[in-house]
Parts: sequence; structure tokens; C-alpha cells
Amino acid sequence: MKVYKFGGASVRNAEGVRNLRKIIDDEQNLFIIVSAMGKTTNALEKVFEGVQQGDRAMCDEHVAAIREYHTGIISELWRGPRRLERVEELFDELAGFAARPGYRAEEAELWYDRIVAYGELVSTTIISEYLNHAGVSNRWIDMRRCFVTEQRHKDAGVDIAASAQRLKGALAACEETIFVGQGFIGAAPDGTTTTLGREGSDYSAAVAAHILDAESMSVWKDVDGVLNADPKIFPDAVQIAELNYLDTIELAYSGAQIIHPKTIKPLQNKNIPLYVRPFGDKRKPGTVIRGMSAPVEVPILILKKDQVLLTIRSRDFSFVLEEKFATIFALLERFRIKANLIHNSAVNLSLCVDRTWHIDEAIGALRASGFDVMKAENMELLTVRGYTDELWRRYADGPQVFVRQSTQSTVRVVRKRG
Ligand code: ASP
Ligand code: MG
Repeated sequence: MKVYKFGGASVRNAEGVRNLRKIIDDEQNLFIIVSAMGKTTNALEKVFEGVQQGDRAMCDEHVAAIREYHTGIISELWRGPRRLERVEELFDELAGFAARPGYRAEEAELWYDRIVAYGELVSTTIISEYLNHAGVSNRWIDMRRCFVTEQRHKDAGVDIAASAQRLKGALAACEETIFVGQGFIGAAPDGTTTTLGREGSDYSAAVAAHILDAESMSVWKDVDGVLNADPKIFPDAVQIAELNYLDTIELAYSGAQIIHPKTIKPLQNKNIPLYVRPFGDKRKPGTVIRGMSAPVEVPILILKKDQVLLTIRSRDFSFVLEEKFATIFALLERFRIKANLIHNSAVNLSLCVDRTWHIDEAIGALRASGFDVMKAENMELLTVRGYTDELWRRYADGPQVFVRQSTQSTVRVVRKRG
């Protein structure tokens, strides 16, 4: 079995779906994981915001736009107006759910997951039906029945042990050898729909590869492979042919948008190679990520945007050490805030964190627990692996740098957005 993952950008229009068909061409024993088409997840987040704000018109408007976008793709695929009943049903369900009374702020994340999951449910339904129509016999798999996740919403991990039998059982029951399943979604032990974190489809594919003992996983992307930097920000970017798991996980964690950071572990645990390949040209080699690859020779630059720097100090000037760390991190965990960089001195703890919904609530809770908290916004976190003197001068120095941490090979700076 091989696992192929197609992201939203690759299947954002009918041409992309036709190209997917070309890529899988004569493959058999294939598990295909697909994300929501184009920017559908963002649009569904708007539907959720409508629910949150009790703004029915806002929900209706966004549901209608999402429906129209997919209807357009369907008619282009079938070269004429075409009604896919299952897709209509999904949209009716979504509209019905968004209009349901009884939303409560304490359940925001539960509602969020329920709503945004429709992106993948719809995309996989369209793609599965199109492939069948185009002569590629396949089976649509409902990942909510296969992936059992933690009992938490918006950023759930998959319980691999609990999911293995379900996924294998679902496939074993089918005659087909090609399967189409949703990235990004699963269900909690209580049966409610969960999502695995934004951009989580890579992780879904890796978990499926792990459970199915896949010979490889391929992520088909709109780039030629993994580059050592984002060419939009660092013009001298070059492609990397091979990477090892360790470098990849560090890169992904630092914010490189190659692959979701949770993707590597399930693959590494079974030694499954990961290919990052260009969606536009199947003949190009892309990048291969596997255990044996040598460390990369070019410096790697990763910029993580939308960061906030929190500086936390105990109000009575007592040392901010282990015990206080425990209090602080328990609070951050409660508000789902991830620390991307941690720096401490006797009385200060500086944390570079993603700008998320709950930051101000978390700051309130820290203050209530006896800490002074300063918040610096508009920050970014730059990581340079394998830095040179020149790169150091260019990126790790200067008045815009608020915090700097370095080892022999890597320097990380929190700096004001330039
Ligand atoms: N559709 C989801 C997102 O946009 C998951 C993914 O693309 O991997 O975040
Ligand atoms: Mg996406």
C-alpha cells in the first residue's frame, strides 16, 4: 500500500482534480488522503464565526458561497450541470447544523470541529465520485469512523492503537484497492467529530501510512520539493534532495511550511519514507525524507510569523523556576498555547508563542496567579540552522532582535516584524 496526500491548493479547481487522476494513473493499493478544496477551511471558519456571533446571515452567506464554489468544480468536472446527491446532503447538513439553536461559548471548539470538517467531507466525496466516473474504481472512506482521537477538539491527536483495527477493518471489507479518505478529521471516543489542527491532513496521511504499513507516503504539493528557505522571503532558496527525519521534524517545528510537525513521528516509527513531490510534474524527483539521509549541507532559514512575545515575572520577585514553570505551563496548556521558544533568567520567563484566540485570557489567568506579564506583539521567530558569520550578521543581530538563543549550529531569534 502507498499513501498519497493531496493538499487543498492541489485540488482547488477541476483542473487540479483531473491532474490528481493523472497522478494516480495506473496505481493500485493506494490510500488517498485529501484536504478541503482551496481555501474552504478558511471559509468554514467564517461560518463558525457566524455561529459564534449569532449572525445567521453571515453563516448563510458563507455556506452559500462554499456550496457555489464546489458546484462550479463539479460541473466543470462533469462538463455540464450535475447534481451529486451526497454533496447536496452534506451541504444541507452543514446549513442545518449552523442554523441550530443552542450554541454555547464553552462548546466553541466542539462546534468549530463539527463545522470545519465539512470541507474534507465534501472534497473527498467529489473526488471519489469523479474517480469512479473516470473509470478509477475506488471506495470513499469515512475517517470519522476510522480515526479515534483524543477527547479534545481543534487539535486532537489520533489514538493509533484504537484506530488500527477500525481502519484496517474498513479497507478489508471492500473489493476496491483504491481508497479516498479525508485528511484533518476523526472522531473522539464520545463520537463527536474532531479535527487534528490546521494543516493536519499530512498528519492524517502519516497515521494511515503507519497503520497500513505503507511502503511510502507522498505529499503532492504546489512546489518542486523542500527548499532551504521560503523563496518569497529569502531569495537565494535552493531545493534539498534528501532530508532525514530529525532535521525535518526540527524544521517543521520551527515553522517551515513543508509538512505538519506531527507528521514525522508515525512515519519514523515504522521507517516509512516520505516523498514531497510537485503536483504539476510527476517526473520531477522532489525531496525524499527518510531515516538514513545525511544532515543537510546548506543553511536552512525558517520564519514563523504571527508571534507574540510574553515576558512573565513573579510579582514578588521570587525566582521563576521549576515550581513556577509548572504553574505557567499548566495555564498555557489549558488555553492551548504553544511555546515556540523559551528563554529564562532568574526572575523572568520569556515565551514566544503563536498569536491565537486565547492569548488574552491566558494573560489574565497568569496575572491572577501572581505574575506580571508583558506582551509584545507583531513578532516573528526566525530559525537559522547551520548559520554562517554572514547569516548571523544579517539576521541574528540588530535592534529588532528581542531574544536570541544559539547553539553551535542553530540560532533562533525573536524579532520585531520587519
Ligand atoms: N483543510 C485543513 C486546513 O486547511 C487541513 C489541511 O489542509 O491539511 O487546515
Ligand atoms: Mg488546507
